[in-house]
Amino acid sequence: MASIAENLRQVREQIDSSIAQSGRAAGCVKLLAVSKTKGAEQVLEAWQAGQQDFGENYVQEALEKMSAVAAMLPSASLPVWHFIGPVQSNKTRDIAANFQWVHSIERVRIAQRLSSQRPDGLPPLNVCVQVNLSGEDSKSGLALEQAEGLCAQISELPRLELRGLMAIPAPCSDHEQQRLVYRPLAQLFNQLSARYPHFDTLSIGMSEDYRAAIAEGSSMVRIGTAIFGKRG
Ligand SMILES: *Cc1c(COP(=O)(O)O)cnc(C)c1O
Repeated sequence: MASIAENLRQVREQIDSSIAQSGRAAGCVKLLAVSKTKGAEQVLEAWQAGQQDFGENYVQEALEKMSAVAAMLPSASLPVWHFIGPVQSNKTRDIAANFQWVHSIERVRIAQRLSSQRPDGLPPLNVCVQVNLSGEDSKSGLALEQAEGLCAQISELPRLELRGLMAIPAPCSDHEQQRLVYRPLAQLFNQLSARYPHFDTLSIGMSEDYRAAIAEGSSMVRIGTAIFGKRG
């Protein structure tokens, strides 16, 4: 089995070649390593290979991992943690206090709680609105037509920084089809980025479709399996 460092090297190479093929600027796509279900040792291994941003789906698991990782690294150089799973209201306080990013906002009520619970000593929490591009096939995210309204409400919240849009489409193995599914989201993203000052993040692309996502304008890919191997 290839090492995490080797997997990361290959994924970064693929990202760079997809960027070049699309005629986009070098370095315009950030890599988020999705470490859910993987241990602190694996996060550390990726960290030592230069990976800085990590994505987690489950709050309790993430908090334990964060403190284990923090115990192994100098406090001046800690990973950037992104919450990418469904946000339950009884978890907003822990999320607001421990993450720098939340990609999965689909309700204004949750956004309000995160804003009011974001500790004063920390910068505003970076957030993305999650859009459902696959209708019945997915329960997470709100309809594309509703995303603009939620963004407007979030932009008024003092302790959140509205950064962009996120989506998890239904799995599909055809490159062209993967691109088509992302296209309307990319169009909305372009419209809204002209409206909000820090709206710079289109969080699309996972292990099976990140090349298509990059071709459609992704600025952050969230990759688990291709870096850490299959989840158990
Ligand atoms: C698990 C997960 C990923 C990573 O998926 P892979 O197919 O393993 O790359 C990305 N985004 C979200 C929201 C996830 O839950």
